[in-house]
Amino acid sequence: MSQDHKKLSHITVLAAYAHPDDEGFSSGGTLAMLAGLGAKITLVCATNGDVGEISDPSLATPQTLAQVRQEEMRRAASVTGAVDVRFLGYRDSGMAGTDDNNHPDSLNQAPADQVVAKLAAIIREVRPDLVITHDPTGGYGHPDHLATYAHMTQAFAAAGEPAAQSPQPGSADQPWTPRLLYYACFPRSVMRRMWQEMRDAGVTPPFASREQEDTLGSPDEDVTTVVDVGEYVETKLASLACHRTQMNPNGPLAQLPEEVMRRIMSTEYFTLAVSQGSETEDLLAGLADSER
Ligand SMILES: [Zn+2]
Repeated sequence: MSQDHKKLSHITVLAAYAHPDDEGFSSGGTLAMLAGLGAKITLVCATNGDVGEISDPSLATPQTLAQVRQEEMRRAASVTGAVDVRFLGYRDSGMAGTDDNNHPDSLNQAPADQVVAKLAAIIREVRPDLVITHDPTGGYGHPDHLATYAHMTQAFAAAGEPAAQSPQPGSADQPWTPRLLYYACFPRSVMRRMWQEMRDAGVTPPFASREQEDTLGSPDEDVTTVVDVGEYVETKLASLACHRTQMNPNGPLAQLPEEVMRRIMSTEYFTLAVSQGSETEDLLAGLADSER
């Protein structure tokens, strides 16, 4: 840890993802590093992740899952160093093509302007320098990832417009334009290598058949920023481990050899989508250097 560990105490970060644990897999090391450097971090979770499987039936029932996953998320955030956690409260929309996509409480069914207004209100209240969210591919195309990407991208612009409606007039209605918008992404080449490593380890990769693999992840040319989070990989894994109802010991990631898992988790990738204002540097590039 750097002696000058409050180097980023003037920086505020807003990271918005679809489900509990997305924050960890997508950017857990980067968020831990930012927090370690003194940045203030607000995490927004759009859904309660209440459709996924329960790894251990003693931890939750389908009825309690939303609440349990919120608690797990708060614990995970505190390990990462994010003190402020917000839930938009939508129901998980499930994987594409499932009945859960049509549930009236799902993020998938929520009117776009409603979600955008909620996110814009949070931006105006928190006044972040830097916003991080899902990338345009959603990693593997989960409808909630795609929705969160689209709504946050719109909210990023709307928050700075004086005419934009805030759901809580008076409390958070000062326009605010964050400097930087990043999309956390999983480059296609990295996904392919990971899937091959799973096969080499005798593990069936999730989400895709071999034919579908060509569409998984983000095009490599979209990656603008690679962050070495090796020094924070233990924090990242400890934070992810808080999502106990999602930690399937027989899941594909859990079956990878530990050193492979640790190596995969030690690098995070981003697209710098918007950079504006007087200081328009790529803040996340060189973050690992500033930490030393
Ligand atoms: Zn997710």
